[in-house]
Amino acid sequence: MTALGCLAVLTALGGSGLGAQERYPVDWGKLQPEILERFSALLKIDSSNPPGNETKVAEVVAAALEHEGIPAQLFALDPSRANLVARLKGSGSKRPLLIMGHTDVVGVQRDRWSVDPFGAVRKDGLIYSRGANDDKDHVVAGLMVMLLLKRMQVKLDRDVIFLAEAGEEGTTQVGIDYLVKNHWPDIEAEYALAEGGSAIEADGRVHHVLINVTEKVPRGARLIAHGPSGHGSRPSPQNAVVHLAAAVAKIGTWQTPLRLTEATREYFERLAAISPPREAARYRAILDPARSAEVDRYFFDHEPGHYTLLRTSVVPTMVQAGFRANVIPSEAEAYLDIRALPDEDMAKFFAELRRVINDPTVEVVPAQTGGRPAAPPSRTDNTMFHAFESVSRAMFHAPVLPGILAGATDCAQLRAKGVECYGFGPIAASGEGSLGGAHSDDENIPVRSLERLVEFLWRAVIEVAAS
Ligand SMILES: [Zn+2]
Repeated sequence: MTALGCLAVLTALGGSGLGAQERYPVDWGKLQPEILERFSALLKIDSSNPPGNETKVAEVVAAALEHEGIPAQLFALDPSRANLVARLKGSGSKRPLLIMGHTDVVGVQRDRWSVDPFGAVRKDGLIYSRGANDDKDHVVAGLMVMLLLKRMQVKLDRDVIFLAEAGEEGTTQVGIDYLVKNHWPDIEAEYALAEGGSAIEADGRVHHVLINVTEKVPRGARLIAHGPSGHGSRPSPQNAVVHLAAAVAKIGTWQTPLRLTEATREYFERLAAISPPREAARYRAILDPARSAEVDRYFFDHEPGHYTLLRTSVVPTMVQAGFRANVIPSEAEAYLDIRALPDEDMAKFFAELRRVINDPTVEVVPAQTGGRPAAPPSRTDNTMFHAFESVSRAMFHAPVLPGILAGATDCAQLRAKGVECYGFGPIAASGEGSLGGAHSDDENIPVRSLERLVEFLWRAVIEVAAS
């Protein structure tokens, strides 16, 4: 691994003119209209999940591939929700590389949008549409890379497989789960590149590139408070609404234990190394048991994105109780969104949760999520990760940070099967939450950011797959 890593770095730094990037130059300016046209076509298909209708997207992608002689297969558990798989063969001297993007999108509240959410409207250098950020940008990037590999007749050491999968937004049984279970040989790979990362921009330049190597595991639980029903005119210490409210309040203020993992440790170490002195001191302090509590508190108030990476988080999100103003209900219920660290012992965690609530009338029922398996993080010392580092240097003069995603992606299923899966993404502004991001109203992506995403994927693929 170390020897291969060194080789990748030498190739990137050498600039001898013999590197893969130089042998397969791409005129990105010339390619821009095609990227935008294909992207718009994908965005204009309403593949809101539910119901999905991802087959419509898969068919457009399949037609584009087949038009240029790349055979595409559709695999479907539900005919309206097909997954697309296409493969360019390599010599087989190295194991395959999988590039992927999901074809479904989350729904929209049309009246909250300033433009048609499926219109691919272009305005002030931005493209607005549901799916612009999540995840038709990766779909078009994968498609373009396949077309370029074919057009330029790139000789490959490993197969490059393109997967445009359905159902990522909460219905993986028709998408990645179905494929892993029924079509594993068609997508099995050494490395996979998917959504989840981003190139973080500050002061007009890319400051660092986040490549996600692991993600938190979505869990959940219902709290159900039980008590006798009764008349609203008679106060009762057994009122289920009151017991539930007290339990929710305890959970809402419970600071779950801070715990560093190998991945978070590496992330904060690398982040400290490229941050201004004050921030750097803070990121080093979080690694120091004597000072971590204070920084953790700071994160809670000012950097919630960092706060959640350090723990299994519990967030009350829904409360339901009662049906009439003058009736005490016999049951009251709340939902907890739990995002677990990958190695969390959930049985122990739920025991701790019950101890914090400390109320025998409140039942804790773990949700049957099961959508995402837990798995160890992908490595940062292999050919693929070193390729990200050399590509980031070449494109942005920026270092790479291994990231931990608080959300969930189809990488989870692949990591659980032993694939080293990485999340990369478009250029995004630094700071907590940006307008027009994934799942938000007026979701959009800057045109230049989309182009750089395609280029990033192309360079990374060429780096590890070209002979
Ligand atoms: Zn997504």
